[in-house]
Amino acid sequence: MQIPNWPVSTSRELELIAEVLGSHTWGGSHPFVAEFERRFADFHGCRHGITVANGSLALELILWAAGIEPGDEVIVPAHSFIASASAVCRYGAIPVFADVDPDTFTLDPAAAAGALSPKTRAIMPVHFGGMTADMDALGDLARRRGLSVIEDAAQAQGSEWRRKRPGTFGLAAAFSFQSSKVMTAGEGGLVLSDDDAFAARARSLANHGRREGHGWFDHFDAASNFRLSGIQAAVLLAQLERLPEQIEQRARAAQRLRQATAGVKDLQWQHVPAPVTAHNYYLLLGRHPRRDELRAWLDAKGVPSTPYYPRPLYANAAFETAPHRVMPCPNAERLVKDAFWLPLRLLMASDNTLDQVAAAFCQFR
Ligand SMILES: *Cc1c(COP(=O)(O)O)cnc(C)c1O
Repeated sequence: MQIPNWPVSTSRELELIAEVLGSHTWGGSHPFVAEFERRFADFHGCRHGITVANGSLALELILWAAGIEPGDEVIVPAHSFIASASAVCRYGAIPVFADVDPDTFTLDPAAAAGALSPKTRAIMPVHFGGMTADMDALGDLARRRGLSVIEDAAQAQGSEWRRKRPGTFGLAAAFSFQSSKVMTAGEGGLVLSDDDAFAARARSLANHGRREGHGWFDHFDAASNFRLSGIQAAVLLAQLERLPEQIEQRARAAQRLRQATAGVKDLQWQHVPAPVTAHNYYLLLGRHPRRDELRAWLDAKGVPSTPYYPRPLYANAAFETAPHRVMPCPNAERLVKDAFWLPLRLLMASDNTLDQVAAAFCQFR
């Protein structure tokens, strides 16, 4: 069984990196940075892209530029990478953990509605595994209650809900280019927004409070440096060129695995609702009541898998001290026991390998 490696590069990355190294601008002022921001924003049908050093800072920058203050509440799903919640804590605000839908693994709109309070300022859907959350229901809820939608799209480059891509559903979306993600420069992040004033403020805060049309030493906020380098932008330009084709390849692979394992007793793959017009398949998420036995079986056959997160976010030691609020999360509590995922690199494998992976599932008793 041949499972490809990830991440990978071609001569294209080397060619673009060489161009940056041959210039005398290696940092955030290299034209590749602005070019990547424009291309990534265009690809998502969004007006503004602001690159930052990583996805966690992309979330922090959005909360900062949105004016989230100490005591404000932000609704986050009980399952995600820690950064979705810890970014909220960085501003003294309060993450409120709401349950996820057990079939889609994304924030349950009814649970989010039940978690609102007079202090709620924003809702943060996480497009988990690369599949967009229910942006109809969450968008409606936010509009009715006057809340900002802040998308954690760290895993969802190129994914779609009713043919629209992350960054176009609310105030802003945060993306990650960390090395496990669907495109990467080792580290990196980006904020997308359609709001002109918000984007200008975010860009300024990420660049020491500078403003367009003013000098390098003119600072309008005591802000910080979140910038991405020209060398990273070179790698990301090359990675973005290959992304659409890779998304199609993974979608075909996921379809092949789903079909070939349709008869496996008690195996349940992530439900893909009809409005999801594209899923980038960062992860292929699944559930099985005997997950640990299944994973041991797969491991013996050479099939890599991950046993989901070990606990809901709120059960991490970090929240013994960090202020937060928890709603009842029976689905999140169950998923930690029976959910798993197959990694992106497996979905880049040949049809022959995919058939062997499917056979391993089918042989499990
Ligand atoms: C990767 C990830 C982040 C953080 O991105 P970094 O670039 O690693 O800081 C945030 N949220 C989710 C859901 C992620 O998967």
